[in-house]
Amino acid sequence: MATYKIAVMAGDGIGNETIPEALKVLEAARKKFGGFELACTELPWNSDFYVKHGRMMPEDGIQQLKAYDAILFGAVGDARVPEHVSVAQTILAMRRGLDQWANIRPARLLPGAPCPLKDKQPGQIDFVVVRENTEGEYADVGGNVFAGTENEISVQSAVFTRRGCERIIRYGFDLARKRKASGVGKGQLISVSKHNAQRHSQVFWHRVFEEVREQYPDIESRFLYVDAACMDMVRKPETFDVLVASNLFGDILTDLAGVVVGGLGIAPSANLNPDRVAPSMFEPVHGSAPDIAGKGIANPLGSVMAGAMMLDFLGQDRVAQAIVKSVESVLSDPKGPKTPDFGGKAKTREIGDELARRL
Ligand code: ATP
Repeated sequence: MATYKIAVMAGDGIGNETIPEALKVLEAARKKFGGFELACTELPWNSDFYVKHGRMMPEDGIQQLKAYDAILFGAVGDARVPEHVSVAQTILAMRRGLDQWANIRPARLLPGAPCPLKDKQPGQIDFVVVRENTEGEYADVGGNVFAGTENEISVQSAVFTRRGCERIIRYGFDLARKRKASGVGKGQLISVSKHNAQRHSQVFWHRVFEEVREQYPDIESRFLYVDAACMDMVRKPETFDVLVASNLFGDILTDLAGVVVGGLGIAPSANLNPDRVAPSMFEPVHGSAPDIAGKGIANPLGSVMAGAMMLDFLGQDRVAQAIVKSVESVLSDPKGPKTPDFGGKAKTREIGDELARRL
C-alpha cells in the first residue's frame, strides 16, 4: 500500500484554521476508501518562526522538503514581517527551489457558490488557467540605482526562456487534450499574451506558442491579448476551456477567475513539478486574511479542494473525486452549512465535519 509523505505548512492567519479542515477531510476519505496511507508532518514555518529565527523557514528548508511526496500549504502574511519577505521566503522559494513550474488553477462554478455575474448557471463555467510559475515577469532580476534621490532609477527585467515557455505551453495543450478525452473540456486552448505592446518577450512567447500549436492539430487554439482575456472572463467565461499565460498575466487572471466562480473562499491552486523530481505544493488561493483570522469563520473549501488536487496528482483520483462530490453536495444543499462569505452562519469546523460525513 502506498504511503504518501506530506509536509503540512499551515503558515499564518486563517491557514491555521482551514488546513486542519482539509486534513480532516483527507483523513476521512482515506479511511473510507483505503488503499493508501498519509504520513503528515506539520512544519511550523511561518511568521512566528521568522520572529524567532529571522527567516520563514530553516536555511536548509527547501532541502528538507525534497524528502516529501507533496506539500500542503495554507497562507503566509503577518504584520510583523514585510509581505515581500514572507512570500519570497516561502511560496516563491518553493516554486523556484522545487521547480514547480506549472501553476494550475481550475475555475468551475459549482451549484450554491455565489457568482457575481448575472445569468451564469452552475455547470456553464468550467475552465483551467495554466500559469508559468518560475520565471517571466516574476524573475528576481533588477535593481535600483541612485536610491532615495530624484535621479532614482528602477529596473525589473522579465525572463522568458525557450525551455520555460515551451514546457508550460505544451502543458496547456496536453491538459486540453486530457480534458477533451475525459469529456469535461472542449479541446480548446487560449494563449494569453500582449505581443502587440511588448515587442521582445511577448513576441517570443507568441512565437513559441505558434510553434507548439503545430503539434496539436486536434486542439482548437488561438490567442487573446491579456486585456481581452480579462474582458471575456467576465463577459463570456463559458467560452473558455484551458488558458495558458506567463507568471504575471496568469497571476492576475487567476484572481479574476477565482472571483467569477465564487470568491477566494473556494479557489484552490496547485504548484506542480510535472517532471515529479521534487514535491509539488497545493494551496488555497487566499492569503492569511487577518481581518477574519481567529474568528473560526474562514471558508475551508479552498484548502479542501487543494487537498483533493493533491490526492489527484498523487494518483488517488477516485478519492479526490469523492471529496469534490462531497463539496458539491454540501454547497448545492440549501440546508448545507455555509460560512459567512457564502451567505451562511457556519463555522469553519462545521464545514469540515459535514464534508467528512457526506463523503
Ligand atoms: P494576505 O496579506 O495574507 O494576502 P489579505 O487579507 O490581503 O491577506 P486574503 O487573505 O486573500 O488577502 O483576503 C482577501 C479578502 O478575502 C479578505 O477580506 C478576507 O477576509 C477574504 N477571504 C480570504 N480568504 C477567505 C476565506 N477562506 N474565507 C472567507 N473569507 C476569505
